Amino acid sequence: MNRFAGALAALCLAAAGTTAVVVAGPAAAAPACSVAYRVNQWQSGYTADITVTNGATTASSWTLTWHYAGNQSVTSAWNATVRQTGTAVTAQSLSYNGALPAGGSVSFGLQGTYSGTNDTPTDFALNGVSCGDPAPPTSTTPTTPTSTTPTSTTPTTTTSGPPPAGCTSAAICDDFEQQTGSTPGGRWTVGAANCTGTGTVAVDSSVAHSGSRSIKVTGQGGYCNHAFLGTSLTGVGSNHLFGRFWVRHTTPLPTGHVAFMAMRDTADGGRDLRAGGQNQALQWNRESDDATLPAQSPAGVAQSVPLATGTWSCFEFEVDGAAGRLRTWLNSAEVPGLVVDGVPTPDIDQQWLAKTWRPAVTDLRLGWESYAGDADTLWYDDVAVGTTRIGC
Ligand code: CA
Repeated sequence: MNRFAGALAALCLAAAGTTAVVVAGPAAAAPACSVAYRVNQWQSGYTADITVTNGATTASSWTLTWHYAGNQSVTSAWNATVRQTGTAVTAQSLSYNGALPAGGSVSFGLQGTYSGTNDTPTDFALNGVSCGDPAPPTSTTPTTPTSTTPTSTTPTTTTSGPPPAGCTSAAICDDFEQQTGSTPGGRWTVGAANCTGTGTVAVDSSVAHSGSRSIKVTGQGGYCNHAFLGTSLTGVGSNHLFGRFWVRHTTPLPTGHVAFMAMRDTADGGRDLRAGGQNQALQWNRESDDATLPAQSPAGVAQSVPLATGTWSCFEFEVDGAAGRLRTWLNSAEVPGLVVDGVPTPDIDQQWLAKTWRPAVTDLRLGWESYAGDADTLWYDDVAVGTTRIGC
């Protein structure tokens, strides 16, 4: 058995408020967290003991995320709930170890399989705050892996930047790291139909789900203050779509009706299919007839979920145009009140199915639209659209 022991201390630089700039590499700012990832490996498997130290503000629960560079596959874990989709791994605290005071540490472990190399992850993020890069390979401080049969020590640095989180096989897969100005460019345009007001959309570096950039939407109340970041869905190649994005809200979903995503449905008079919220929970809304999913009865709303604030949430949807079906997941868990399955269910999709609905959506817009007076500041990152489920 070849033994391997590696240690990594990844500095997390705090992104305090909305003005701090995350800087890669050593800096004078106090680290917000550090991660020690210690591996024992053999020919086809490994265990990892992972210790997270929180240097930032006290947390009542924690989520640590990272990506594997190789084909590592987590098979079991202890002292955390660990999920993996593709190369993306999410470890969440359990009821008994969620409290993590400033300066406190918590440890958990996992076992997995791999072939080829088993490089230590380099993109840890704690509760949505990127932990930045580890010290360069030439540094004398990190513990050097020792092995009787040396594995590759090729640095993982690349000139083209890391791939967006877990979506490289999707037709649209954007982490916004290529954006260079304050106004989103490339495939994205900023705007809103009918009228514009005080809502704004900008590339932002105060907080990011991946890398150092995201899209910040400063959403204001009232329909004409709506603002969206939009792109065509031409080229995705199917009328059966799967979408995934990470969103970080500041304000809880209000009682009033709001939308944070809209898609033009050319099979429904060019009106929008909208995702958003009402009565403090997520909902879908059809602009053409104002049908909601779920129905806004107390029993219907109870089958949807609120959206967390101050942390990144993974929103996933499936729109099957030919079948007229719709599914929705939040942080990988399907939301029962946000399902159109073709069989009318009171409080959920009975109203939605009152008319034949075979959507053909042609664009994707992310932003903020309020039909009352509700404002929010929110961020988007790692947006993907494809023809198979992408995952978080
Ligand atoms: Ca990003």
